[in-house]
Amino acid sequence: MDDCIFCKIIKGEIPATKVYEDEEILIFKDIAPIAKIHLLCVPKEHFAYLRELNPSREALLGRTLKKIADLSEKLGLSDGYRLIVNQGESAGQTVKHLHIHILGGETLPWGV
Ligand code: AMP
Ligand code: ZN
Repeated sequence: MDDCIFCKIIKGEIPATKVYEDEEILIFKDIAPIAKIHLLCVPKEHFAYLRELNPSREALLGRTLKKIADLSEKLGLSDGYRLIVNQGESAGQTVKHLHIHILGGETLPWGV
């Protein structure tokens, strides 16, 4: 997707503070953090919505969640973390490339 900001980050066309990368995912720091640690995990394949999942993307998402869990200590999240996937306008999804917010580094308040 030529106009997708996260695809541009994945391709290295715009800068980001990368904290983990492999052949299928990238994790980088959110530019406007809402918690002491606020990372974004994106699949390198561009798609926007969970409704676009297919068997291959389902498997990718499963591996991605396992990878986040495996990396949690290294990412400074050993006390716990929260994953958020905003879907659609009313949820506040501003970037139409599926991304998992990873929040932690402090005690997180619960709310909408
Ligand atoms: P969402 O509202 O779920 O679509 O989340 C998009 C997130 O991307 C927001 O938390 C933004 O702060 C973050 N964001 C937007 N542009 C960048 C960027 N260039 N680098 C890092 N994070 C970004
Ligand atoms: Zn994209």
